[in-house]
Amino acid sequence: MAKIRKKIKTIKVDADKCNGCRACEIICSAYHSTPKYSSVNPARARIHVISHRLKNIWLPVFAGEYAPAECLGRDKYVIDGKEYEECSFCRASCPSRDFFKEPDSGLPLKCDMCESDPPLSTPMCVQKCLNDVLIYEEREEEVEEEVKLDDVEIGLESMIDKYGFQAVMDTVSRMSASKKG
Ligand code: SF4
Ligand code: SF4
Repeated sequence: MAKIRKKIKTIKVDADKCNGCRACEIICSAYHSTPKYSSVNPARARIHVISHRLKNIWLPVFAGEYAPAECLGRDKYVIDGKEYEECSFCRASCPSRDFFKEPDSGLPLKCDMCESDPPLSTPMCVQKCLNDVLIYEEREEEVEEEVKLDDVEIGLESMIDKYGFQAVMDTVSRMSASKKG
């Protein structure tokens, strides 16, 4: 496969500075609503703040890849004396929990770094985090060219995993027939 130069965007998290205000969830859901800023629903955000008040844990986690199966691991992490629970650092939309799923359809959500045209200088959650928890960085890397699944393909894949290929195809045929009629 061909090598290409690619801009890699990352957001580092300085979790000790997070106070759990959830402004990042709010702005992410508003920015990704259709039309933009027409609604606010943190359940639709592509960032989720893990909160354990009694343990003083506030941990923003970005939605990553869709995972069709539950994991078998149940690891715990102790960092600076704080114990983080099993799934805290996981970025997947998976069958085990409700994070990173569109609430109405159950389709997986994924952080897209606020890709837009024209591009934003800084992703929205980074702009709105007043505590400097989220630090945006860009760098160039030489990477293998990859075939990227878009949101529609990822959504279809998750529906097929959930309901089976035939059920999804039957529904698509039925919908397409009713649109033509
Ligand atoms: S906006 Fe910043 S401080 Fe507030 S919850 Fe998100 S990461 Fe934490
Ligand atoms: S970078 Fe954009 S899409 Fe990703 S969590 Fe932040 S606001 Fe949401």
